[in-house]
Amino acid sequence: MRRPPLLLRVDRGEGRNYNLFIVIGSLRDKLARTRQAFKQKLGGIFKSGRKREDILDELTEALILADVGVSTTEKLIAGIERATKRSDPAEAVEEALKSELVGILSKYPGRIAFDSAPSVLMMVGVNGGGKTTSLAKLGRRLQNEGKTCLLVAADTFRAAAQEQLAVWGQRLDIPVIKGPYGADPAAVVFDALRHFKAQGFDYMLVDTAGRLHTNTNLMNELEKVKRIIGREIQGAPQEILLVLDASVGQNALHQAREFQKFSGLTGVFLTKLDGTAKGGSVIAIADELALPIKFIGIGEGVEDIMEFSPGQFVEALFA
Ligand code: GDP
Repeated sequence: MRRPPLLLRVDRGEGRNYNLFIVIGSLRDKLARTRQAFKQKLGGIFKSGRKREDILDELTEALILADVGVSTTEKLIAGIERATKRSDPAEAVEEALKSELVGILSKYPGRIAFDSAPSVLMMVGVNGGGKTTSLAKLGRRLQNEGKTCLLVAADTFRAAAQEQLAVWGQRLDIPVIKGPYGADPAAVVFDALRHFKAQGFDYMLVDTAGRLHTNTNLMNELEKVKRIIGREIQGAPQEILLVLDASVGQNALHQAREFQKFSGLTGVFLTKLDGTAKGGSVIAIADELALPIKFIGIGEGVEDIMEFSPGQFVEALFA
């Protein structure tokens, strides 16, 4: 039987428009700084009566300054040029910009592949990006849907990371498996898998290490963890989400390229979109990584998570 997807519940019959309104409203609030930065840079560009070439020149500069990145900006402008050949410049360019943005953000669509239990998710990314917090958010979300979860602290070299996950587990009343300090993460995950299967949990969510300075070791370690999960549960891990911090702007893309050396990423969990002016990086990430953005983090609280929706995001950006 197909289980209900892990989703923002925006389409519930009569409440549909109202719920959607709340989603866009709160996203709009959380994106306030990105939106202000965007608006400041795009500010006077779309005044009517201006020449199309002037609008496009200024728009190019503004998008690059908004952290959209050179290559993605070039694609956006080319798309807008094609779409606005014969129309009234200002309004047409603004509309074309929105639809090009939605197009780029939808380029690699993908929903969380948690249609059936048991499923396993791994969270990877550099330290400080928000892996542990995001894992707790997903655990909470699954819990809210009546699913049972097991959290696994596989960053055995950072005692603080393990403790942090243990604290989340306590707070949310979700069991956490952790190993002794310095243990092989794959061994911790192996033990966790035994427990997971024996107890019949629905979902296992694995936190991993993120020390990029020992890059090769880290990638080997992640491969090993993944291999063991796949050996114990067919088709698992169903999800390997790369956690990227939106507030570091274009640097997030550099980090992502390092992690793309590790095979099997299924999507991005983009964190800290609240309180940053660099949300433009979302567009470059969606364009250049060939990975769907599946979730966004919009705060430090356990409920501050949203499934990513290109339309809602662009709507909130221009609201
Ligand atoms: P990890 O090292 O990758 O596991 O990162 P953590 O989960 O420890 O997060 C690092 C910091 O980022 C913590 O202070 C979190 O509260 C914070 N954080 C995580 N996600 C978000 C988010 O979406 N918004 C904000 N504002 N802070 C976040």
